[in-house]
Amino acid sequence: MKADIHPNYPAVEVTCSCGNKFETRSTFGKALAIDVCNECHPFYTGKQKTLDTGGRVQKFADRFGAFGAKKA
Ligand SMILES: [Zn+2]
Repeated sequence: MKADIHPNYPAVEVTCSCGNKFETRSTFGKALAIDVCNECHPFYTGKQKTLDTGGRVQKFADRFGAFGAKKA
């Protein structure tokens, strides 16, 4: 590798909102907090799930009534 042209690419810990943790490398250089990962994304689990980030689904249900979203 050529000297002094490559960015710092350290190992970082990634924490998902489902509790899953794994390590990767990133030029970001800090621990990452993510909403969805390969352990909990419906594409990989095969189960349908409403990804309710920040209560947005509930906000929609409050505003437009019961168009499908169930109250928790
Ligand atoms: Zn996850």
